[in-house]
Amino acid sequence: MLGSTVTAHIAILAQSLGLPALMTNDRRALEIASRTPLLLDAEAGRLLISPTAEQLLDHGIGAAPVSTANRVFSEAPERTTPEPNAARAVGVQLYANVNLLSDARRGAALKADGIGLYRSEFPFIVRNDYISEEEQYRVYRTIVRSMPGKPIVLRTADIGGDKLLAGREEERNPFLGVRGIRFSLANRPLFREQLRAMLRAGHDADLRVMFPMVSSVEEIEDAREELAASIRDLEREGKPHHPDPQVGAMIELPAAVVAIEDLVDATDFLSIGTNDLIMYLLAVDRTNERLSELYRSHHPVVLRTIADVARRIGDRIDSLSVCGESAADPVMIPFYLGIGIRKLSVAPRRFRLVRETLARYTCEQAEQYASELLAIRSLREMNRFLTDLKPPAREVSVPQQD
Ligand code: PEP
Ligand code: MG
Repeated sequence: MLGSTVTAHIAILAQSLGLPALMTNDRRALEIASRTPLLLDAEAGRLLISPTAEQLLDHGIGAAPVSTANRVFSEAPERTTPEPNAARAVGVQLYANVNLLSDARRGAALKADGIGLYRSEFPFIVRNDYISEEEQYRVYRTIVRSMPGKPIVLRTADIGGDKLLAGREEERNPFLGVRGIRFSLANRPLFREQLRAMLRAGHDADLRVMFPMVSSVEEIEDAREELAASIRDLEREGKPHHPDPQVGAMIELPAAVVAIEDLVDATDFLSIGTNDLIMYLLAVDRTNERLSELYRSHHPVVLRTIADVARRIGDRIDSLSVCGESAADPVMIPFYLGIGIRKLSVAPRRFRLVRETLARYTCEQAEQYASELLAIRSLREMNRFLTDLKPPAREVSVPQQD
């Protein structure tokens, strides 16, 4: 079960780097003397200062030094990852969310079905500045080449919110400000450079371009015009480029949910971004630790909203994926399966967990589970239900593939 701050972008980046991280407003964290032994349980959201031998043992760590503790909490080594057969058995495709090149490499090694989300703003954020078309091209080219022949979804920059660049005009409320596609459309020359870099990098690939923070069909139309103009320019210049990439939109704003039928018509694919959808639906800041009890993907309102999207998208369900952190949440995975979603895009570090979770459910069990969750009216009742829940006893036997 994911709470807020786990989905803050700094936390998402820490996950990519394999760094256990805890976010807190508690200023006492600044007073911890250097060289103090710490035990960070990033899963439980707890930092133990000078842990006792008993506390270390409670966490499965003998009398080990703290540097070992860090390793204990990092991911299990990749060689223990099961063969990618479980997801296939129920027809689920598993894509990689990529923030850093290392994610793409890891995704490829773990036989991802492609890249479902490349957060293209990270190179800007890492440098705290805009980077040239050439530099972008080089980064995107490396990403594209990491999974030859597979679908590669490059998302245009989602700048704004908690991803601010130096020198940008401050906004009173950046999460409700010039963020994502609004930023791109307000800065057309930068947008055009990014689209050109993407089109060039994906000239020989199954390139898909996705727009973040879409709230209306007009934004898709405007973005498509920029894309078409970029293609014309590259044609005129004789530079290799993709002539006609698929175009998609993130479903992460309530407005996009309401307009889902229009957005289906205006795009080739859609991806539900639950990190933001939860925040904007429930008016709960995804970076505010004081609200983390409320920021829940299994909130009944969130579940009903997502089920509604899946139902209204109808026979275009194959063009819908989920790429928020909840797509790797064992509580949510069978729910997604149960409402008919067959594409998940998650951090490669979570592949193993996702595959193991998928392997435990048949489609019928998942449908039953989804309908049970959808009948629950309050978050309190939902929390109780999930706490009492036992995972299906029966392991699903899945045929070996590859
Ligand atoms: C999301 O909002 O769920 C998402 C995947 O995008 P980001 O986390 O980059 O905002
Ligand atoms: Mg988002």
